[in-house]
Amino acid sequence: MLAMNYRGPKRVRIDQKPIPEILHPEDAIVRVVRSCICGSDLHLYNGNVPDTRVGSTFGHEFVGIVEEIGSDVHKLKVGDKVIVPFNISCGRCAFCKQELYGNCHESNSQATAVGAIFGYSHTAGGYNGGQAEYVRVPYADVGPTIIPEGMDWDDAVLLTDVVPTGYQAAEMAGIQKGDTVVIFGAGPIGIMAARCSWLFGAGRVIIIDKEDYRLEFARNYSQCEAYNFMDMEDPVVFVKKTTDWMGADVCIDAVGAEAAGNVLQTITGRKLLLQAGSATALHWAINSVKKGGIVSIVGVYGPTDNLVPIGNVVNKGITIRANQASVKRLLPRLIDHVQNGIIKPKQLITHRVPLEEVADAYRMFSEKLDNCIKPVLIP
Ligand code: NAD
Ligand code: ZN
Repeated sequence: MLAMNYRGPKRVRIDQKPIPEILHPEDAIVRVVRSCICGSDLHLYNGNVPDTRVGSTFGHEFVGIVEEIGSDVHKLKVGDKVIVPFNISCGRCAFCKQELYGNCHESNSQATAVGAIFGYSHTAGGYNGGQAEYVRVPYADVGPTIIPEGMDWDDAVLLTDVVPTGYQAAEMAGIQKGDTVVIFGAGPIGIMAARCSWLFGAGRVIIIDKEDYRLEFARNYSQCEAYNFMDMEDPVVFVKKTTDWMGADVCIDAVGAEAAGNVLQTITGRKLLLQAGSATALHWAINSVKKGGIVSIVGVYGPTDNLVPIGNVVNKGITIRANQASVKRLLPRLIDHVQNGIIKPKQLITHRVPLEEVADAYRMFSEKLDNCIKPVLIP
């Protein structure tokens, strides 16, 4: 089969690989119909995630058709069309039982903090991902969810990660009626978090990024205010000024580790810069939220990005909430929202690319070429 193949930082290509086989009675094999590239894949692509092994196939956002099932799979049958959550969850450990499906204790034998994720390095279990024609799906009775009648593949594929993560970012922020929400990062996740903030009663939603085309997209899609931090002396002062010097009620970090590198290149000389490896957007979030406010982090960090201004967290009495999205927990209500037209996921898809052109797709998404918001690979 054709599959994306990681060769080292910023080097991916398409290759022939063996079709995956059932290795455990609870596995299924899914034939991939749509597979996205995510901002999280850029951390791997840029070499920021430890133990990302050459030869691995990325891809944790995919939907497809069940091709084969193991002898212990009872809820799926061959031919079912499924949404596969990006988390690999056993469904029976202490964390899964609390619906913390992103923190499964059994799926990741590496025993690090994170539960397993498709195509996300050996620190997240070492499973191959769905940027391929076929993928092995462990614990197939737990995660995969039948795509309801009438929902198309494009909406479905964004329910594997983007919609639940954006929604959970807003949920973790504990938004109260009328709150001012400031979101750092206008990628697909930040844009979806902005859209979902209204569902929780926000009174004002502000998104901050450096890409004008993404800000324009967010303004239209999420109906929010959108500002370019390259036009600001200091984003923290900007947020304070626009909130009567109180600070935002809640801030969301939808940037993660990449911010450090990006910001280093773009704003050196403007005195905004912290330090290589530090989490710029997270600093801005902590420093611009009000005293007693909440900072919700869905941005992904590697082990080197730990230089947070913890003193300000203590002095301001800030609550920090963070997690991998618990996709399975959120799917029933988000499927409803999509079917009722409250969330329209597929409008985020700007590019549909044949799987064969995976290298070009990574470059386009990574370098923000051709006004790319969300690319989908089609095997
Ligand atoms: P993306 O790379 O498309 O978007 C990130 C955006 O942040 C870009 O538009 C970039 O210009 C902007 N940016 C860079 N530095 C910034 C700064 N200092 N302030 C404001 N904006 C800045 O990524 P995405 O797909 O939208 O994902 C966003 C983050 O969410 C990533 O870190 C990703 O790994 C993470 N993520 C987490 C989960 C989860 O479950 N927690 C799930 C999916 C994605
Ligand atoms: Zn993702």
